[in-house]
Amino acid sequence: MSQKTEKHEFQAEIQQLLDIVIHSLYTDKEIFIRELISNAADACEKLRFHQSSGKEIHEPDTELKISIATDDKANTITITDTGIGMTRDELVENLGTIAHSGSKAFLKQVSEGKEKPDANLIGQFGVGFYSAFMVAEEVKVHTRSFAPDQSGHTWVSQGVGTYEIDEAPDCPRGTRIFIKLKEDDKEFATSTRVESIIKQYSNFVPFPIELNGEVVNKVSAIWTRSKSEIKDEEYNEFYHYIGHDHEDPLTRLHFSADAPLAIKSLVYIPAKNMETLGVARSENEVHLYCRKVLIQSKAEKLFPEWLRFLKGVVDSEDLPLNISRESMQDSALMQKLNKVLTTRFLKHLDELSKKDEETFYKLYDLYHRFLKEGVATDFTHRDSLANLLRYESTVLDKGKKTSLKDYISRMPEDQKEIYYLLASGRDAAEDSPYLEVFKSKNYEVLFLYDPIDEIVMDHLGQFEEKTLTSAEKADLKIEDAKDEKALSEEDAGALAKWAKEKLGDKVEEVRVSTRLVGSPAVVLDSDKTMTAQMRRFMKSMGQDSGPVKLDMELNPQHPIVSQLFAMKGTNELLATKVVEQLLDNARLAAGVVEDPKTMVRQLNQLLEQVLAAGK
Ligand code: ADP
Ligand code: MG
Repeated sequence: MSQKTEKHEFQAEIQQLLDIVIHSLYTDKEIFIRELISNAADACEKLRFHQSSGKEIHEPDTELKISIATDDKANTITITDTGIGMTRDELVENLGTIAHSGSKAFLKQVSEGKEKPDANLIGQFGVGFYSAFMVAEEVKVHTRSFAPDQSGHTWVSQGVGTYEIDEAPDCPRGTRIFIKLKEDDKEFATSTRVESIIKQYSNFVPFPIELNGEVVNKVSAIWTRSKSEIKDEEYNEFYHYIGHDHEDPLTRLHFSADAPLAIKSLVYIPAKNMETLGVARSENEVHLYCRKVLIQSKAEKLFPEWLRFLKGVVDSEDLPLNISRESMQDSALMQKLNKVLTTRFLKHLDELSKKDEETFYKLYDLYHRFLKEGVATDFTHRDSLANLLRYESTVLDKGKKTSLKDYISRMPEDQKEIYYLLASGRDAAEDSPYLEVFKSKNYEVLFLYDPIDEIVMDHLGQFEEKTLTSAEKADLKIEDAKDEKALSEEDAGALAKWAKEKLGDKVEEVRVSTRLVGSPAVVLDSDKTMTAQMRRFMKSMGQDSGPVKLDMELNPQHPIVSQLFAMKGTNELLATKVVEQLLDNARLAAGVVEDPKTMVRQLNQLLEQVLAAGK
């Protein structure tokens, strides 16, 4: 130890992370090379950015590149870059503490046993540097910051408990990572093995990668090339690289535009939705370039929040190179980019829905909630988003969905509005008494199973000038269906009045219905602003929306109702029990039954009286 040597302890979480890396990760060990190259490339990108924005840089003429050296006799591998390097403080901060939320998320994921520890996760969670300890007996980092007034340092560790920092005045700009390999991991000291790993994972790094003196990667920005000359495999490889994902993407959009902005963009949709997998909220991973120079990685405002699952690259020649990242965030230019990109992306989804339904539906199943979030929050793109919505409906088989446009194309001439029914699933929807009037009129009704859909409908209000109306609230009448046994208008009115007297506070109002065919009665939310489905949703979220106020509607054509009218004159006591039971049944059908025990007790009393009356 020289006099300047400082010994540091790893933060507890980092040590925990290292223990997992060292003791639990046995497969895909080679990804440590990908991770270190990715860090080296980031460092070079950052240097290029500082250069283009006119900052003073140490050793300004050094070429930006990554060099890898293997030594199969000494059993070592060294990865060197000429990027921005690190100061002493940055070393401590970046390679010894939990700087990223990613490391915590990674630990949580692994310790909860949700996911078996997997080396591939490491890059996705942004803790790539530590993957070196899968194969290393010791890691030694030499680094010198690009800032002219700094000196070089070394950082050494075996990955257990501590690391040491020392001064290294002769260090050139950038970072060198020297790994003494474990006996079992010798393979990473042979150049053929390392070359195939680089080809597999790092072919698209936008800086030359030399292996033992020879350049082994293709250095070209794939997004600037023409579509026709890029193969699917190349596209996917590039996705693996920028997306930190070892799976192929679901689909991609590669396009360029000249007006209103010069843009070249390549964005991918991952085949897995990380948010529903229980991993933290997704972060937009689209990087912003200007003529192949990285301006901002994970450029936050480039796409709206609800497109945060996208990964890829946007390159625009119209960006001023020397703009600061902060002022870029909120600039009018960024807003303009956002609008152009989002519009183009939505158009692409629309095209996809026509050209490749299968992929579109896969995408929809994975990400429909993001699109719906967009409908609810983003006025600018609301109409194009509504165009992408898909729902099951009364005229389609279970599992098949329709767009609102196709729904409208099937509407009979006398139908003026678009109808939807909120339900917990297909069976519940099919059984709903609210559907009866629609069936009798041959009107199609959309089935919505997700509570967010009600919010979506509220925000949309209309689609192509047709009002979206909840089936529970639709003001429709069944016409011409009067049959002999039906009650007259007058009798039905009298029955409703009587029922309200008997039911008292249990209902707000009792009315004669014009829309029921097969059911004797339904209840409707008398508070027109909230459907029963919404109430259940609020309740499940722990928000009680207060006591339910219900209106009851009686079907004058139903035999129970007409007989009830007769009975109220002969046996009012029993008739009262029956009407109470009718209310309970209707509440049950609407999913707003409050106390099943009371209901069963009443039902038993009713049976008793029916049996007694039959004697
Ligand atoms: P991530 O790359 O996702 O930030 P890592 O664990 O791979 O996470 O690296 C941690 C941090 O260490 C990086 O963010 C960077 O600041 C620093 N770092 C790692 N390698 C280098 C390098 N070659 N040059 C400069 N900084 C580096
Ligand atoms: Mg990294």
